[in-house]
Amino acid sequence: MKLKLALTAILGLIVIFQVAGQTPFEFEGKTIPPGTKQHFTINLTDQQHQAIIPITVFHGQTDGPVLGITAGVHGYEYAPILAGQVLIEKIDPAALSGTVIFVQIANVASFLGRSPYTNPKDGKNLNRSFPGSPSGSITDRVADFISEKVIGRSDFFVDMHSGDAPEDLMAYSAYYQHDDKTTISEQGRQMAIHMGFDHVVVFKTTGKDYMEPDKPSLYCSAEAFKRGIPAVDLECGRLGMIEPVFVDKIVVGVKSLLKHLQMTVGQPIITTKTVFIEERSFQSSKHTGFFYPHKSSGDYVVEGMKIGYITDLFGRPLQDVYADTTGVILFMLGTPPVNAGETLVAIGVVNP
Ligand SMILES: [Zn+2]
Repeated sequence: MKLKLALTAILGLIVIFQVAGQTPFEFEGKTIPPGTKQHFTINLTDQQHQAIIPITVFHGQTDGPVLGITAGVHGYEYAPILAGQVLIEKIDPAALSGTVIFVQIANVASFLGRSPYTNPKDGKNLNRSFPGSPSGSITDRVADFISEKVIGRSDFFVDMHSGDAPEDLMAYSAYYQHDDKTTISEQGRQMAIHMGFDHVVVFKTTGKDYMEPDKPSLYCSAEAFKRGIPAVDLECGRLGMIEPVFVDKIVVGVKSLLKHLQMTVGQPIITTKTVFIEERSFQSSKHTGFFYPHKSSGDYVVEGMKIGYITDLFGRPLQDVYADTTGVILFMLGTPPVNAGETLVAIGVVNP
């Protein structure tokens, strides 16, 4: 009897070691041993242009999920890109369970070319180009690579943005929600909450065109969500600036997410109270000229409050801009130029 107990205990230990034991991770034809990280420079070409994508794969010492993270889908959004540079050293594969595939800069041409929104090589916005195509122009090919080789291997996914060059933006995390995808919606919600942002925006996708199986997902994280992967967007940083407070906030948020997903040891950030934003109101400009904001991102406004005005190119007033709902300013144009039809302001309706 004693022998049988001892054997059972030994077998149990073997099972535990097998569960904890980690196999190497294969990526782009290379083998990454457990407890190590490796940098990859992906080369893509179309008929006219080249693209490189710098990716770091952190392969944990022990078994666990795969977390995909993208920064620099917009290459002028510096806070997430700089956070990635910090996280290269902060994520310790020896102390990691599972694997992190970290796209350091998805759109290098936009980054090096100092080009807001688009890839200067083909003029396309990478975050409107998913799932991409292996035979399209260079931006389509970058999207295709990320869809297949990063998102396609992930169990959880985070796409990190900030306010592009003219965008005065309030920091928030956001998660994708769909009425028929309750489990991954809730997983995404928990991810967003545990990244430590005061405001969490709900991207409601039920009935949205880009969720249809035969329609393109357009957005990087929407591609993940369509594939059944819990997906979070970060927006942190503004106006193409490099304010350390936002870089730090992203670093802290990613480290907290790793704890929440039990990929590292420790307590994730527990926010005492999160403000959820389920509805957003977008207001666009009727005119072309100068925009003078009276408010900033993060300001709370009530419906009817004057929040700015527009003049023509000679300074003559054209339009006063009023808040069209009560809530918090998530986004506002923060630099003078404005074109008719462009979004001036996005106000989030607050649901405490
Ligand atoms: Zn962006």
